Order: sequence, then structure tokens, then C-alpha cells
Amino acid sequence: MKVSESCYMVSGLGFIPPWVVNAGIIAGREKTLIIDTGANTLGAQTIFGYATAFKPDNQLIVFNCEPHFDHIGGNGFFKSKGIELYGHPGIQRVEDEFYWEKYEFNMAITDPHRKEAKEELAFFLETGVVNPDQPAVAGDSFDLGGVEVEIVALPGHTPINQGVYHPAEKVLFCADCIVTDYLPNLEVGDPELWQTWLQSLDKIEALAPAVVVPGHGRAMFGDEINVEINRVREVLNKAIETGKAPTGINN
Ligand SMILES: [Zn+2]
Repeated sequence: MKVSESCYMVSGLGFIPPWVVNAGIIAGREKTLIIDTGANTLGAQTIFGYATAFKPDNQLIVFNCEPHFDHIGGNGFFKSKGIELYGHPGIQRVEDEFYWEKYEFNMAITDPHRKEAKEELAFFLETGVVNPDQPAVAGDSFDLGGVEVEIVALPGHTPINQGVYHPAEKVLFCADCIVTDYLPNLEVGDPELWQTWLQSLDKIEALAPAVVVPGHGRAMFGDEINVEINRVREVLNKAIETGKAPTGINN
């Protein structure tokens, strides 16, 4: 879906139901930036198809907003095409962690026969752990040819979450800082990190974007943005007050 002159969103890529995951595309005259690569190689192929259809001659580059596998799972596909992968240098996932990701995916399969048949292997076909190989942190920018975008720090969901802002078109790709209509995932954090998340929401409010593309859920336009910011704020304030994330078995 086109969200502004040069920005697009690939929504609804597969993940553990009811979650789907989004990717972003910003196309300049010479380069096309892909923001997050989906949870698996099949998702990455979909993103690649759209990204190359918009501007077939452009050089592609990838940026990862966060370390969770639903945002970096397609990295291997892009790397196999010789595409550079940018991201926070703290994104350093290992095979053991990916094993447990696949395990969790398998546990979410409700049909016992499908679970026994290890259908998670179909989802994660040709998908492995590939971390970004080029550092990109807040303050860095990408010149895509007539389109300049910048990295913004949006810690909270994880300590190293980052987003991409296109100031001229006022479009923010915020990853999981806001997840439209979903209950935000606070499980990797604690009250201290959740306070940082509140500050990231303040930062988004101050930026006053016209469009926000989240890591999960629908794109937000205009007044909807503050409604969603306030909804996430409410969840965070309650979690800080009680010391507990709204989800998760450890709470
Ligand atoms: Zn996510």
C-alpha cells in the first residue's frame, strides 16, 4: 500500500496468529530502502517483489528496526542477493535463539497432526539467522536520491529499537513502538525500559508525523496517530504501576 509520494507499506506478512508483521519501502531516484524483512524467506520474497516492481533499476538496501526474528527473518534472502543489511550493531542473534523461536512457532500450531508434522519448518523454509552487517544508528541518514531519510532511536520494546523518518513527507516507520490495535509486547522489558518507551512515544508526538507505519497492524494517518499513542501510553502506565507486562507467563 502506498502511504505517501515515496513511501509504501507491505502489510500482513505471516507470523504467529493473530500477529502479522509489516515491512516498509522508501523509494528514491537511485536507491530503495527496505525497512524490516518479515519473519521468513517467503515474506522476504514478497517484500522483494514489491520493492523491485516500484523502481526496477534502483539499488536495494535493507534496514532492520529491531532484533526480534519477525523483523529480521528475511535477512538471509536479501543477503543472498548481495544486498547490504543495516541495523543497530546490538542486533546479534544466534542459532540457539532461533531454535527456540521455531519451537514457539510450533507450539502455536493448534492441530496436533500439523504440530507433529513440524509444519513450522514450512513457514521457516530456507530461513536462518542473519544479522545486519552495516551499523546504522540514530542520527545516521540514507540518501536515496532526492529522498533523504533519517534513523531515529525509539527504545522501549527493546533497548535498541529504532525507526526511520522521512521528514519531507512526514512519514515515520516506528516498528514496534506502536502496534496498531494489538496489545504492545512488553515482555522483554521492565519498568525502567517501559519508562524509556513512554519517552519514545513523546518523541513521536513531538515529531508530529502525518503517517505512521507500525511494525504490526494498520498504518495510521492524522488524528489516529495520537489515539494509538495514548492507547499504548495507557498500557505502559498500567504496567509501570503494577510492575507487570499485560501478557506473558512470567508475570
Ligand atoms: Zn515485532
